[in-house]
Amino acid sequence: MSGGREATATATGATPGPADGVATATEGPRLLAGSPIAAQIRAGLTTDFAAFKERWGYAPTLAVVMVGANAPSAVYLQQILRTCEKVGVKGRLVEIGSDVTADALCNEIERLNGDPAVAGIIVQMPLPAHIPLHTVIDSIDPAKDIDGIHPRNAGLLSLGYDGFLPATAQAAVEILKRSGIEIAGKRVVVVGRSNVVGKPAALLLLREHGTVSILHSKTRDLGQYTRDAEILVVAAGRPGLVTGEMLSPGVVVVDVGINVVAGVDGAERLVGDVDFESAKDIVSAITPVPGGVGPLTNALLLTHLMRAATNQAESRAARAKVGVGHDA
Ligand code: NAP
Repeated sequence: MSGGREATATATGATPGPADGVATATEGPRLLAGSPIAAQIRAGLTTDFAAFKERWGYAPTLAVVMVGANAPSAVYLQQILRTCEKVGVKGRLVEIGSDVTADALCNEIERLNGDPAVAGIIVQMPLPAHIPLHTVIDSIDPAKDIDGIHPRNAGLLSLGYDGFLPATAQAAVEILKRSGIEIAGKRVVVVGRSNVVGKPAALLLLREHGTVSILHSKTRDLGQYTRDAEILVVAAGRPGLVTGEMLSPGVVVVDVGINVVAGVDGAERLVGDVDFESAKDIVSAITPVPGGVGPLTNALLLTHLMRAATNQAESRAARAKVGVGHDA
């Protein structure tokens, strides 16, 4: 992380953001850190999962399906599994070779769907090119789809109902809300339209009454739109895509991008999609990379697991009461 000062973000959202008119030009940008918010969520989860275990007699399992080796994903997975351990969840890494067939992968997911110990399933992307993404997504039980990728959960989101949200998109919005940054009525620009980040983030920002534009790789002259933004969310996976000259003074930036690049010393480091150095004197607030959206994503994912585990345990108990012996 470079420049700026450490976060003033709090989980209570008590600190007003520069988007609300607080000038910070002399101090550098306000850093919207996800870690303190995530720590607060994790503390609550530790209590909740202990209560779950007390009530139901077991700790729920999060199954993480990884197909083939992928360095950035592996780092992300290790973080999730560590977070599981911290809050009292069993993390199960299901490693599958990249030569797996689509049928065999779906069978593995079906097996996890039917395993009562497994409350949530995430499948690490990207998948090898020979595996059609939609067949894998469709095979996840929507009740265990805690990262909201199944069409049922995506549909619920678009209708404004209460399904499982894609955790990264939710984190991008939560970091704004919990930092006290008003979204309603603001000109909000989202760069990226993937089903897991850009599109759901745009829908969530619309739900918060932002006036939302979505940009993508075919958008002509990105800067024309980004300069109009009061809140800019960038999820493109392109390091340095957004530079300072593409921003208007005072904009609040949520940088979702996580990119591994070689530093001047040759060592690898993580950077976002926004060029922090040129942006930092123009923005009023910005999420750091690393330490912004990422930590919050993991914590939110586990709140979804808590909800999934509770729903499943209660539904099993209700079935047992009326004499239905197995999960339908
Ligand atoms: P993705 O599936 O590759 O989608 C990237 C999106 O960005 C696409 O919609 C693409 O447009 C758009 N895009 C690419 N180049 C562009 C350009 N030059 N100008 C405008 N738009 C452009 O990636 P993703 O899964 O959404 O992830 C996006 C980023 O978020 C990645 O860096 C990823 O590592 C990061 N991420 C972070 C977290 C976290 O917890 N913080 C979690 C997941 C992902 P088209 O649709 O036209 O191709």
